[in-house]
Amino acid sequence: MDYDTFKKLGLKLDMSRGKPAPEQLDLSAELLERLDGHLAADGTDTRNYGLASGLPEARALFGSLLDLPVSQLVVDGNSSLALMHDTVMFGMVHGMPGGAPWMGQPVTFLCPVPGYDRHFAICESLGIRMLAIPLNADGPDMDAVEERVAADASIKGMWCVPKYSNPSGTVYSDQVVRRLAAMKTAAPDFRLLWDDAYRFHHLGERRIAIASIVEECAQAGNPDRAFVYASTSKITLAGAGLAALASSPANIGWWQRHTAVRSIGPDKINQLRHVRYLKDRANVEALMERHRRVLKPKFDAVLAQFDKYLAGMPGVSWTRPEGGYFIDLLTPPGCARRTVELAKEAGIVLTPAGAAFPYGRDPDDRHIRIAPSFPSLEEIALAAKGIALALHLAASE
Ligand code: PLP
Repeated sequence: MDYDTFKKLGLKLDMSRGKPAPEQLDLSAELLERLDGHLAADGTDTRNYGLASGLPEARALFGSLLDLPVSQLVVDGNSSLALMHDTVMFGMVHGMPGGAPWMGQPVTFLCPVPGYDRHFAICESLGIRMLAIPLNADGPDMDAVEERVAADASIKGMWCVPKYSNPSGTVYSDQVVRRLAAMKTAAPDFRLLWDDAYRFHHLGERRIAIASIVEECAQAGNPDRAFVYASTSKITLAGAGLAALASSPANIGWWQRHTAVRSIGPDKINQLRHVRYLKDRANVEALMERHRRVLKPKFDAVLAQFDKYLAGMPGVSWTRPEGGYFIDLLTPPGCARRTVELAKEAGIVLTPAGAAFPYGRDPDDRHIRIAPSFPSLEEIALAAKGIALALHLAASE
C-alpha cells in the first residue's frame, strides 16, 4: 500500500497525548463503586476540611511506593504536573528555603532533550530560560550538566524524568543519579525536579529500579536538592487519581507553609477510596501488570510495523522502550515536521514535531513522539503503518 491509498481509508485517530485507553481505566472500575464509609483509619471524617498534607494512610501508601518516610512526602490533588508547576511558582514568588525569590533575577532551567513538553511549557509561561542538554542512553550528558551548573548561578533547576523518560524511554543509570546528587552548583538554591511519572510502568519483563535521588542527595550533603513527583494518573484514573510530592524535611516544611495559603485540604474522600482499592505496593504492582498486558501488544504492534516498513531506511531509527508511554521515532534530518503533517492529512494526529524540545524547536527536525496507548490494537497497527508511509513520502520529497 502507498500513502495515497492509505489516505483513502479515511482514518480518524488522535495520538497526540499519552492517554490510558478506556480498557485501562476499566481496570480500576471498582473505584467508582461504593466507598464503604467515609471515616479514615484514625476516625477522621474525610468529608470535612483538614489534613492538608494528606490522609495518613494515603501518605503511608505513597511512602511504600516511593521508598521514603511518610514525614518527607505529601499527597495533594490529582495531578503531579500541578505540583511541579506550584513548586516552580513558589520558587519564583517566595524563593526556595533560605533563598531569594527567583523572580527578578535571571533564571535558567536545564532541559534534557528530547523531553516532556509540559515541563517546558511551565518554564515558558513563567519566563524561565531553558537550556537543552543532550539525553544519552544512560541519562543526561553529565559532563555538560556539571560544567554548566558549576559555572552559571542563574541555573536554578533541572527537569528530570529518570525512568522510562517521555518520550525516549531512557532510564538514568545509578551513576548519573549519583552525579546529579553530588555535583557542585554555582546556585545554592538549585533544584532537581524529579518527575517519577513512570516508576511502576514497565513494558518488558524486567522491573527496573534506580537509585533514590532523595537518599543520594542527603548522602552527598545536598539534602534539599531534589523534589520528587509521582501520581496514580496512569495507575488508576488519569483524570481522578492521586498525586504526591516527596523531598527533604526542609523542603516539605516550605511546601506545607506555602500550600496552606492556597487550600484548607485536599480531596480526602478520593484518597480514602484509593487506599481501600490499591491497598499496598504488591497490589499496585499486580495492577500495573494488568496495564502492561494491555499496553505491551500495542507497543509491539507499532515496533512490528516500523520493522516492516522502516528498517534499513537511512537516518531513521526508533526507541524500544522497556517502560513508559512513548516511542521516539527519529526521521532523517528535516523530515519530522513534514511527516507529522502528512500523517495528519491521512487522519492521524500526532504530537507536534518539535514538542519534545524547549520552545518547540527541534534543531534537526528529527523527533516524532509516538503514543501507542489510547487507540485500539487494530487502530494502532494501522496508524503505525500510516506514519511509516508518511515518513517515506516526506523523505522522498
Ligand atoms: N510527567 C510526565 C513525564 C508525563 O509524561 C505525564 C503525562 O503524560 C505527566 C507528568 C502528567 O502527570 P499527572 O497526570 O500526574 O499530572
